[in-house]
Amino acid sequence: MSAPIDQSTKVPRIGFVSLGCPKALVDSERILTQLRIEGYEVVGGYDQADLVVVNTCAFIEAAQEESLDAIGEALTENGKVVVTGCLGSRGSVVRDRFPEVLAITGPQDYEAVMKAVHAQLPPPPRSPFTDLLPDSGVKLTPRHYAYLKISEGCNHKCTFCIIPDLRGRLRSRRVDAVLGEAERLVRDGVRELLVVSQDTSAYGVDLRYESAPWHGRERRTRMTELADALGDLGVWVRLHYVYPYRHVDELIPLMAQGKVLPYLDMPLQHASPGILKAMRRPAGGEQVLERLQRWRDICPDLVVRSTFIVGFPGETEADFEQLLAFLEEARLDRVGCFTYSPVDGARANALPGAVDPEVAEMRRERLMALQAGISAGKLRQFVGRTLQVLVDAVDGDEALARSYADAPEVDGLVHLVGAEGLRPGDFVDVRIHDSDEHDLYGTAGEP
Ligand code: SF4
Repeated sequence: MSAPIDQSTKVPRIGFVSLGCPKALVDSERILTQLRIEGYEVVGGYDQADLVVVNTCAFIEAAQEESLDAIGEALTENGKVVVTGCLGSRGSVVRDRFPEVLAITGPQDYEAVMKAVHAQLPPPPRSPFTDLLPDSGVKLTPRHYAYLKISEGCNHKCTFCIIPDLRGRLRSRRVDAVLGEAERLVRDGVRELLVVSQDTSAYGVDLRYESAPWHGRERRTRMTELADALGDLGVWVRLHYVYPYRHVDELIPLMAQGKVLPYLDMPLQHASPGILKAMRRPAGGEQVLERLQRWRDICPDLVVRSTFIVGFPGETEADFEQLLAFLEEARLDRVGCFTYSPVDGARANALPGAVDPEVAEMRRERLMALQAGISAGKLRQFVGRTLQVLVDAVDGDEALARSYADAPEVDGLVHLVGAEGLRPGDFVDVRIHDSDEHDLYGTAGEP
């Protein structure tokens, strides 16, 4: 074990590398908040840091490699490294490659990370600096939007996924805790809340939908009730990782009323019943099509984003054609597609019928080509309309913004002119003049 660093004369400085999904980002924000509360300084360069924390991802092989590369780089550039996050759950993978790391902890194990930091760098005496921390803590997203994590873990057993092994079974945060955090974020200037979890539709199942008082009213720890209460905060509320269970029907009227954004991020992964069964996914393609139709009848503005996996073991050309036919009919607004990649420890690795990677890649390209036409057609429907957008960045007369149809980082943008005087975080009405496969183009302030 290496000797603790001499900190008698200076504020201890921590470097932080954050990898992975929005859930991991929220973990990073919690650790950074705790570091700041305890008086550590968070610095941007390896050479200024006394120690580096690397929050890792292990969702797929490529993410695992990226995490190992980041650990290697931090060790070379700094030498004192604490590893946390999903790859931390597989301590031996990290330890075998990098025996010199100081400590390895798993996801959401904030206490263990802090313990490892304390062992090397005792916290300084409390300083008035900590009083400057916003109520909502440290955020890694821009000031005007924030991820709101409502639960951890997952009760499903999708055969391609090891998240339940890494993050455990579903553990929901009680509704009053989530709403309290949301209210603090809004007070600190957040204009868009992005609700994330592994399975948003399952929120509260583990707590038997326990009720809690919130501003004089009992609220249940349940997706619809949470969405309804978030809708009262007066900011955009965007729901991610919603699976098409029956009770999602209850959300659609809230979207039609404008309480939450008419946007659903719904990872469907495939449409062939055989492949969905092999993946152990809930809800088949037919049911999804029926639901989509019903939802669009109630809320015609609904935008649906989804992701799919092609080249899953056993996927035949007929299965793939079925997926294409589904996409033709479903006319989803935004689609991401990945080729299947085996993840260490996933049960799908043992399934027969591995698909040649070249075939899988060709299928991915065919799917994306089909979807490009569908997405472009969907975006064309916005031309001539006036949309409210949230400004992300301004450069003179021009700005980049997003409408209700665009989640940050994964969807498209609205490119604006006439943006003088606007600032990031402003809402503004924009007349849409043009569109392409991904983005919209418009002028701010035109009727
Ligand atoms: S729903 Fe399936 S893919 Fe999503 S986290 Fe749970 S097991 Fe993994």
